[in-house]
Amino acid sequence: MNNADYKNAGAGTKVVWAGEKAALAHNATQVPIMLSAAFQYDDIDEWYDVAMGEKPGHIYSRMSNPTVRALEEKICVLEGADNAVAFATGMAAISSTLYTFLRPGDRVVSVKDTYGGTNKIFDEFLPGMGVEVRLCPTEDMVLLEREIAAGCAVLYLETPTNPTLKILDIERLARAGKAAGALVIIDNTFATPLNQNPLELGVDIVLHSATKFLSGHADVMGGVVCGSGELMRRVAHYREINGSSLDAFSAYLIIRGMKTLKLRVRQQEASAMALARYLQGEPLVEQVNYPGLPEHPGHDIAARQMKGYGGIVSFVLRHGMDAVRILLPKLVYANRAGNLGAVETIYGPARTTSHVENTLEERLALGISEGLVRISVGIEDTDDLLADLQQAFDQLRQSL
Ligand SMILES: *Cc1c(COP(=O)(O)O)cnc(C)c1O
Repeated sequence: MNNADYKNAGAGTKVVWAGEKAALAHNATQVPIMLSAAFQYDDIDEWYDVAMGEKPGHIYSRMSNPTVRALEEKICVLEGADNAVAFATGMAAISSTLYTFLRPGDRVVSVKDTYGGTNKIFDEFLPGMGVEVRLCPTEDMVLLEREIAAGCAVLYLETPTNPTLKILDIERLARAGKAAGALVIIDNTFATPLNQNPLELGVDIVLHSATKFLSGHADVMGGVVCGSGELMRRVAHYREINGSSLDAFSAYLIIRGMKTLKLRVRQQEASAMALARYLQGEPLVEQVNYPGLPEHPGHDIAARQMKGYGGIVSFVLRHGMDAVRILLPKLVYANRAGNLGAVETIYGPARTTSHVENTLEERLALGISEGLVRISVGIEDTDDLLADLQQAFDQLRQSL
C-alpha cells in the first residue's frame, strides 16, 4: 500500500489522491478500467504465491481486480480502516457482511429504522436461518442498551436514519456493544466518510452504499465494507465464494465520482439547511427533519459525532398523500425517483422510496406518515432550489 502519504491529509485531499498508485500503469495519471477476468503468470511458483496471498497481485477478478482494489484502498484511507472489500451493490455489502458473521442461534440487536432492504434481511431472511433479531425503537436508548446487554453477536447501527433522519449515539452504543462482546456494524451511507468516521468511535465494521453519495452521479451501483484486516479477510472470503464482487467499470465510475465528494456534499448540505429553514416556516408543513436544525432532537449528538449534517432533508405535508400528489409534479429542478446522493435534487415519498416494501400499517407503526417526503438535495444553486420549492408550495396552496 502507498497510502501512508495521505493518512494525515484532509478528507478533500484523500478523496482525490488516496489509494490509486498501485493501479496506475504506463505513467497514466488516472486509474485504468482493468477489464480482465484473469491475470497470467509465466512463473508458476510466483502464480502459486500470489494465489496463496503470500505475494501481492491478482488471480481472477471475482477475488480481486486492480481497479476495484484502488477503490478499496481509497475507502481505507478515508475511513481509517486496515482494509476494505467492495461489492456489486450496497445491499450485497450489507447482506454479505451479516451472512459472513452470523450463525444459527446467534442474536442480532438493531433499530426499526434501518434502510428498507436491511430491514427485510432482519424481518425475513435471518429468522429463517435461525438467527434471532431484536429491533428496538430507534429513539429508545435505554431499551437498546438493555437488549444489547442481554447478549448479541452483532449490533447493527445506522445513523442518520432513512427517511426520518433520527440520530443514534455511535460512541455510547459501540461501547455497550463491545461490553456485550458483539461485533458492531454501522451503515454510514447517509453521512459519508467526510462527515462521520465510526471506526474512531469504537465501531468494528463500516458499510456504504457507493450508489449514493460516494459515486454521486446516480449512474452506477456499488457497496463497500471496511474494518480490521482479520474481519475483512473473512468478508473477502465470503465475497469470493458468493460472487457478488464489484466490476472494474463500476469501480472506475465510483473512483471518478468520489474525487468531488467534498465539493458536492458541502454544497448539498448548505442547500439542505436553507431548504430545512424554509420548510420550518411553511404552513402546509407539519414537521421538518434535518439534524442540522438546533430543534432536531438528535442535534447535539450529531454535532458531536458528525462534521457536517449531510444532504438529506425530510418533511411531512399536512394533507398527506393528496398533497404529495400535487406538490411533487410541480417541482422543476427535481427527479421524482427512489435513489439519493446524486448531483440532481431528488424528491420522493417514503411510500415509493425507502419503505416501498412495507404495508401502510407497517409504515405507520414506524412513524412514517403518508405525507412524508424525502429530499436528496443536489448541487444546483441554493436560490434556484428554494425558489422552486416555494413556487410548488404556492401552486399546492391554490389547489387545496
Ligand atoms: C441505498 C442504500 C442502501 C442499499 O444500497 P444499494 O446500492 O441500493 O444496494 C443501504 N443503506 C442505505 C442507507 C441506503 O441509502
